[in-house]
Amino acid sequence: MPTANETVLEIDLKALQHNFNYLKSKLHKNTKFLAVVKAYAYGNNAEELAKYLENLGVDYFAVAYTNEGVALRNAGIKTPILVLHPQAVNFSKLIEYKLEPNLYSRKILNEFIELAQTEKLINYPVHLKFNTGLNRLGFSVNDISYLAETLKKTDAIKVKSMFSHLAASEDLNEKPFTLTQINSFKTITDKLSNLIGYKPILHLCNTSGILNYPDAHFNMVRSGIGLYGYGNSVKENQNLKPIGTLKTIISQIHTLKKGDSVGYNRGYISNGVLKTATLPIGHADGIGRQYGNEKGYVIINNQKAPIIGNVCMDMIMVNVTDIDCNEGDEVIIFGPNNTAEKFAQTANTISYEILTSLSQRIKRVYLY
Ligand SMILES: *Cc1c(COP(=O)(O)O)cnc(C)c1O
Repeated sequence: MPTANETVLEIDLKALQHNFNYLKSKLHKNTKFLAVVKAYAYGNNAEELAKYLENLGVDYFAVAYTNEGVALRNAGIKTPILVLHPQAVNFSKLIEYKLEPNLYSRKILNEFIELAQTEKLINYPVHLKFNTGLNRLGFSVNDISYLAETLKKTDAIKVKSMFSHLAASEDLNEKPFTLTQINSFKTITDKLSNLIGYKPILHLCNTSGILNYPDAHFNMVRSGIGLYGYGNSVKENQNLKPIGTLKTIISQIHTLKKGDSVGYNRGYISNGVLKTATLPIGHADGIGRQYGNEKGYVIINNQKAPIIGNVCMDMIMVNVTDIDCNEGDEVIIFGPNNTAEKFAQTANTISYEILTSLSQRIKRVYLY
């Protein structure tokens, strides 16, 4: 791995390939794989990663919003793209770029059908989402006959898939709840497939669903965090490889005496001789203020250096009193050994949040 000379997020595409192969090894050979690349592929870079994943042979991509799908098309991605949370205002653009909407309510279904008919589309692929317990987006069991009637009246759209989302697939204490979600998904999709007379692709599992509920893979699975190297469990984290390493360097070292303070609002007061290192990364880069005041730490020459005082917009200060280090030395914020999940836990949050918070101004570097 190259040594950093500024703040960089190093992305290991070999690790991405490993994770893809590992997740695929959990699937029946006919089960399709959808790669979730919303939010810049969880803070990495959706275009670059989607190109790589397209070559590896993923069957589908998903993004949250239409503009994310447009960016992938502009980067040359040809694989079908499901837009999980399309906004009606963007439907024309969605159609122009051959993106496929998730339709989750009567209102959004009718808005899409109206436009599809105006544009004289035939069998435009759409995806129906059902709420089976997350209570976020989705049709309910009571919408089934309405859906069947509405779909029969138009040939402008065709249901390419039906799906739902698990609320607690990573939490085995919630297994009974997850099993009720799986069962109601089966019931709903059986009924609707019978009424419309064809069988769309069915998909339910996210990463932890893939790993914990092998009997609920249906025809396709959707993975985000697993591709990026996190399995939401001690056991699965060992089988996956974090693809991102966030690195920076020491900009300056200060030696302070007892009573001196560090940073804004004098957030840290030294109680003895103190050596600090200032690093060029701050809350504008995604290291939120909740990591300050000795919650979070970084690694310098294999030792832990706690973040002291308040996190600044573009900088943090860390305690290096007992660490042999110099200006220009490399600093690891997270990586394969001290993972983003561990780093996130210091601020009471999860890998998903720290990864997707990393600012676009951080340079991304790819290792092939
Ligand atoms: C984000 C998302 C996923 C991916 O979940 P992971 O836990 O990252 O694998 C799958 N499905 C839907 C509907 C999502 O919103």
